[in-house]
This record gives sequence, C-alpha cells and structure tokens, in this order.
Amino acid sequence: MNSGTSSSNQSSNANPPSKMERVQKRPILERREVGRVVSEMPGPSLIVVAGIHGNEAAGIEGSRRVLARLERGDIGLRGELLVLGGNVAALQKGVRYQAKDLNRVWTEEHVRELRKKRELDAEDREQLDLLSQVEAAIGRARGRVHLADFHTSSAEGIPFILFGDTLPQRRFVRAFPLPVVIGLEEQVDGVQSAFWTKRNCVTFGCEGGQHDDPASVDALEAVLWIALRQSGLLRIARGEQLPELTAAENLLEKRRGKLPRMLEVVSRHEIAPEDEFKMEPGFSCLDHAENGQLLARDRNGEIRAPRDGMVILPLYQGLGSDGFFWGRAVTEARLLASEVLRRLEFERVLPFLPGVTRCKDDSSRLLINTKIARLYPLDVFHFFGYRRIRERGSELTVERQPG
Ligand SMILES: [Zn+2]
Repeated sequence: MNSGTSSSNQSSNANPPSKMERVQKRPILERREVGRVVSEMPGPSLIVVAGIHGNEAAGIEGSRRVLARLERGDIGLRGELLVLGGNVAALQKGVRYQAKDLNRVWTEEHVRELRKKRELDAEDREQLDLLSQVEAAIGRARGRVHLADFHTSSAEGIPFILFGDTLPQRRFVRAFPLPVVIGLEEQVDGVQSAFWTKRNCVTFGCEGGQHDDPASVDALEAVLWIALRQSGLLRIARGEQLPELTAAENLLEKRRGKLPRMLEVVSRHEIAPEDEFKMEPGFSCLDHAENGQLLARDRNGEIRAPRDGMVILPLYQGLGSDGFFWGRAVTEARLLASEVLRRLEFERVLPFLPGVTRCKDDSSRLLINTKIARLYPLDVFHFFGYRRIRERGSELTVERQPG
C-alpha cells in the first residue's frame, strides 16, 4: 500500500548498540530526505524537519522509528509523510551550525536576497535546498500541509510544544499532552515554522529534551505519532486503538507531570553582555516561580518574580540575549474567550483605540504610540494573538501571524 519509502534505518545489526550510543554515534544523514511514505489514498501531508540545528539529531532518530513501523504496512495511511534533515552538513559534523543559525534566517527579505545571492555559505546552501524540498512537497500535496520542527536543548527539561498563535495551529497543538507554550515562537525572528505558516501550512515546534538523552528520542517519536493522527494521516476506525498512539500519549502525559498544559509568555527578560546577568541555579526549562522568588542577578542587583508564574528557557550556558522568559499558565476559559472574540473579529476595534494604528503595508501589524496608549496592558493585544512585540523609542509594534 505504501510506496516510495526511502528510509535507511533497517540495518539488521546482530548486536544493536544501546540507545544512548545510537543517538550519539549514529551516522548521520547522507542526504536530506530521511524517509517518505506516500499513500495511494489522497489526504493531508505532514512534513517533519528534524535537526535544523545540527547538534539536535534526536528527532531524526525518533522519526526513523516511526518510518520503520509504518513500513510494515499494516497501519493505514492517507496523504504523505515526509521526513527531512534540517541542517544536513552540520548534522554530519555534529555542530549546531557552521556560518549562521539556520533557524533565524526565514524572513521574506532574507529568502528574497538568498535567491539572488552568488556566494553561498554552508547555511545558505542548506536553506535553498530545504526551501526547494518543502516547496516541492507543498506542490504535490493532495490536502492540507502540516510541518513539524523538531529540536532538543542543551539543558535538561521536559519536552514542550511551541507554535505561532493562529487559531488553526492552536487547535492542532491541543492534541499533545505536553506543555504548550503560546507566544514563544513570536519572540524570535526568522524561525522556519513562522515562514511556512505564512504559506498556509499548519506548523508547530517541539523541544524534545536534552540533546543526548535517549528519552528525547522517545519523546519526539511519540510527538510524531500524535501529529500523524492530528493531521489526519492515520486511517483508523472510530474506537480503534492503535497501540503506538496509546503508548505515545501515556509517555508524554507522564513526562508533563505537574506542569500546566497551556502556558503563555508574558514578557522577555532581554540582556546585554554588560548586564552581567546570572540566572539563579536550579530552574529547569519550564519551571514554577513564586511571587518574590529570586530568579537571577545582574549588575543592578536581584531580579525577583513579580508574581506567581513560570520561568521559561532560563539562560545557563552559552551566549544569548534572552535571560529568561516570564510566563503563566493559561486557563481553558481564557483560551476559549479569546477564540470566540477572534472568530468574531473583535480585534477590528483595536485600531480605534487612542494611540493605536494599523500598519499601512502590513495588516497583521499594529503600531502603538506609547505616549498616548501607555496604559493598555499588553494583554489586550495578546488576547487577539498579537504576540510579536517590538519597541522602538515611544513606538511599539505588535504583530500577529496571519490566519
Ligand atoms: Zn534547536
């Protein structure tokens, strides 16, 4: 039934190496396409990009397991599943990237320039090839196209989902029994998932856990099973239980533990080298913090939690301009309320607020003059999905993803 697979993960090794060894020493990818399953029956597509950071190979391994299972041919599929390596050359070298971060270059402007460029660096070549492979998959799709972006992190932590806050993407990510972080993707410019959202794909990202932890492979495998079901590729009868899906749900539910299912980023603690920022030890990637709790120190003294909330992605190693993100759990009621208002297009009233204008060239952007509109809580904009917030002088730009 399924044809066109090209995964190369079926070696029959008499002495299979331990999982840990497989994550670290497994060879690498020879080419971008890790595997592809095309059903005769038309349907949606799911594209997985694993390892857009070359030191994050766990998603490739997790996807290979799913491809191997599907190749047995007893699980009904419709549409197409395509698994691609992200930064292939960097994956082969085991480094995050060579010339530049391949997950910060997906802006319209950059892609336009790239297509004209003569001298290409390692990541330019990767990006052009990824672009052509994903565009080809979109071109041959026979239904809605979904794209999953698989990562791992240097710090230990519970896997979580991030996504651009559009309503179709919200609906999609609810299927995962993991913490889902709203408003994190929008904090960073040039991520590939946002680029494909603008091209009408339903996208999400997953941080699967620590780079070399075998549990990260398990988590990303589980996420892929659930994504297959949620995107509509699995042909399963009503009431039928696929053991792989049940196992995936149990595993992720267990990993989530006591963390909330939905969280939102409220603010970003931006830092510069001269701030001498130092995070307090002991926070994991997603962690509760109590009102007044010491979070970090910098040259101005202590930084304490403004209220009860969540610390998201605290900076412990390496360089970066994000000290941490501050967030909170979101209730189901609040999500529902914002969805109803967004469906009613209530945000049309926002440009009528004093000090707020809609950007002339880009209707997904609002310009806010903070001298006039200083008192609106950013919450109002968050509520309507305007989560990308940039400040320049007294002007604040808030932007949301289309859709
Ligand atoms: Zn990554």
